[in-house]
Amino acid sequence: ASGYTLLRDPHHNKGLAFTEKERDAHYLRGLLPPAVLNQDLQEKRLMHNLRQYKVPLQRYMAMMDLQERNERLFYKLLIDNVEELLPVVYTPTVGEACQKYGSIFRRPQGLYISLKEKGKILEVLKNWPERSIQVIVVTDGERILGLGDLGCQGMGIPVGKLSLYTALGGLRPSACLPVTIDVGTNNEQLLKDEFYIGLKQRRATGQEYAELLHEFMCAVKQNYGERVLVQFEDFANHNAFELLAKYSKTHLVFNDDIQGTASVVLAGLIASLKLVGGSLAEHTFLFLGAGEAGTGIAELIALEISKQTKAPLEETRKKIWLVDSKGLIVHSRMESLQHFKKPWAHEHESIRALLDAVKSIKPTVLIGSSGVGKTFTKEVVEAMTSFNEKPLILALSNPTSQSECTAEEAYTWSKGRAIFASGSPFDPVEYNGKLFVPGQANNAYIFPGFGLGLIMSGAIRVHEDMLLAACEYTNQHI
Ligand code: NAP
Ligand code: MN
Repeated sequence: ASGYTLLRDPHHNKGLAFTEKERDAHYLRGLLPPAVLNQDLQEKRLMHNLRQYKVPLQRYMAMMDLQERNERLFYKLLIDNVEELLPVVYTPTVGEACQKYGSIFRRPQGLYISLKEKGKILEVLKNWPERSIQVIVVTDGERILGLGDLGCQGMGIPVGKLSLYTALGGLRPSACLPVTIDVGTNNEQLLKDEFYIGLKQRRATGQEYAELLHEFMCAVKQNYGERVLVQFEDFANHNAFELLAKYSKTHLVFNDDIQGTASVVLAGLIASLKLVGGSLAEHTFLFLGAGEAGTGIAELIALEISKQTKAPLEETRKKIWLVDSKGLIVHSRMESLQHFKKPWAHEHESIRALLDAVKSIKPTVLIGSSGVGKTFTKEVVEAMTSFNEKPLILALSNPTSQSECTAEEAYTWSKGRAIFASGSPFDPVEYNGKLFVPGQANNAYIFPGFGLGLIMSGAIRVHEDMLLAACEYTNQHI
């Protein structure tokens, strides 16, 4: 592209950073004002503009506009200002963007594959302008962060995740493909919304769902080869575990919510043992939330303890307890439990409320992965503090509105004794004249590197040992 089209090509446009020489060579004379601003100056100006916006969603939209206009500058901003911009292009703001995707929608990003494209998915892939794709992040929008079913508007998630693949993992933007599979939505509000961008029908399930996904997975492998990485993101758990089990045998796939989260949280736990003492095997874990994140993390902890102590998995699982929407997962509930919860049904009397479970189990580590905010109440944090010198508390649910508690609550309610990290970022908190800096426990700290490793090594399958290796590596660098 040259001249006018070059300025409208986000992959090559540099805006005012085009030098005098480039302006001559590419027929840009007159199409730009005379000033030449180098990239550093452009960055300075944009960051200044961005900081003027007080509404987070405006910052998000400004960043998306930039990505559509001048991709290099977008990534330069993201790389140089990761801490400031991660909450903009990623959690929490991306959550709000997905909720309002219909009304802020301008130019489509990513590839939409809906039930209408059944039987033609290979052709749809060929409509995408890039040929050599290395990583696909795909969602069906059914469990977007802790916000529930956002249908087709979930596209913000794969787009945001992939921008981190480039900014943090170093992959070429052109090698990254965001995909949203639209099989409908059960979100009544969206179904009624005249501006909704997706299919206005209830979600397809069963065979119809499985067939569309299968066609997609086959088309992807056929079009991009065996080494293309497919990252499943924000699927509901009734599909997520099955898809992972099925396609991990034939494709290079991993589920970020189950596996990425497990790896990064285990790394964080091992790192925090330096503060709280004891080996992993000496701790007792209680989860609120027994879905993808909860059981994924629980399983990797059990696996790591089993490696460390040589004890069988069935044994090491016994110090890990989970609470779901019906209460503590115990043996007497076995019959009615979804298969991914069964390994966690230990012998214990029934308990309904989290607070009672905390008092009875006396965990040293409390992990929130339910997607429901404000569930680590003052009573819960105080109970944790009553039998732990330094209670380890992780509020993993995203976005910030769904966080089990805030950093400030964790520190004040524990009188400054909690070791705290959360899925969405919180600012440092001053308590009793001391500054407490919370950690961020989010899979963003692992999937870009994990994915890069898979691609660089030419792997064609993902194994659990790779998750443990990623976790170990991350831990050495925390
Ligand atoms: P999921 O598979 O749907 O699991 C949610 C679990 O929470 C289910 O076991 C559910 O119980 C339980 N639950 C729901 N409401 C509850 C309540 N009121 N009391 C007790 N338990 C309740 O979802 P997920 O994929 O694990 O994600 C959950 C949350 O974790 C989301 O907010 C997500 O943003 C966050 N997450 C964070 C990260 C990170 O990196 N920080 C990564 C992945 C996910 P039932 O099974 O009984 O319905
Ligand atoms: Mn996710």
